[in-house]
Amino acid sequence: MTDPYPEEAPAVPQPVILVADPLDEGVTADLAADFDLRHCEGADRSALLTAIPQAAALIVRSATQVDQEIIDAAPALRVVARAGVGLDNIDVPAATRAGVKVVNAPESNVVSVAELAVGLILSSLRHIPAASASVRRGEWRRSAFQGEELCGKTVGVLGFGRIGRLVAARLAPFDVELLANDPHIPDSAMAELGVTGAPFETLMRRSDILTVHLPRTPETIGIVSHEALRLARPTLRVVNTSRGGIVDESALEVALKEGRIAGAALDVFAMEPPAADSPLLGDTAVLPTPHIGAGTRQAQLRAASEIATAVRRILLPTSTRTVVRGCSV
Ligand code: NAD
Repeated sequence: MTDPYPEEAPAVPQPVILVADPLDEGVTADLAADFDLRHCEGADRSALLTAIPQAAALIVRSATQVDQEIIDAAPALRVVARAGVGLDNIDVPAATRAGVKVVNAPESNVVSVAELAVGLILSSLRHIPAASASVRRGEWRRSAFQGEELCGKTVGVLGFGRIGRLVAARLAPFDVELLANDPHIPDSAMAELGVTGAPFETLMRRSDILTVHLPRTPETIGIVSHEALRLARPTLRVVNTSRGGIVDESALEVALKEGRIAGAALDVFAMEPPAADSPLLGDTAVLPTPHIGAGTRQAQLRAASEIATAVRRILLPTSTRTVVRGCSV
């Protein structure tokens, strides 16, 4: 006679994925189907230290600090995934020493940043934020906001990597002259996009708009310096959506104060947030934004999808599933 109550095979425990920063709900639901998905507030250090010992994967954005102490408290950890680009909040050498992989989503926000750079360029040329604010104040000063057309301007793209080249491609239909400087990209690759490779000094001398897309390295910190800005035309607007400190803020402040350049638009600052009494914030020729380059729904979704796919592949190497959401780059 067959046993009507057969013993069930003991359930194989699913690997634990700890999500320590907010992540798209669709992506977490997808992971929850195959993993033991747990959440904790990564900025709450004791909550993180309590939850981490069971985790096979830790998913963070920028708020959670993953340092040596966290790695030491995580014997089961196989992967730390950063749903975004920068790894400043992750001690990558400590993870590597412990055999823990670190993955990120380097392509996820490049379109968002490129579009912000184009938006800042147009906003600066046409004084859009100031004009809009004046209407809200009940004013109607149509002649107070005379601007400049982008058409016919010379745009210098400093750093012709993922974002720099997307900005160039997006600006080309505006009938601008495009120059670029990047020692690691051959002029021929720039020429394919209608861009002329040029030395840094030429960009500084000839640009009406300098759009900065460099990584922050010892070599690039302060590269847009007092000396560089002394070469500039009075029409120059400096747009920085890369990293704070690459444009020397005191040099920028002096050049603006002395009327040697026309304006600036800054999404990033040497210190974030900048001091409320920063002279740059007090200058109406400066258009500041609070580091919103990656702040689109699509970039966040793309980052979450990319790292979910990577985590799945590491924890379940036989999985061929790709979590794809949002528009592709
Ligand atoms: P990338 O690595 O693809 O491109 C950077 C390019 O700069 C490379 O081609 C490199 O050769 C070039 N470069 C390096 N040193 C140089 C120098 N001294 N002179 C000229 N060129 C030089 O990087 P990316 O993905 O295009 O990102 C560009 C910047 O944007 C980075 O600093 C990144 O952190 C920043 N970023 C900002 C935001 C935001 O929210 N504002 C979001 C994402 C990325």
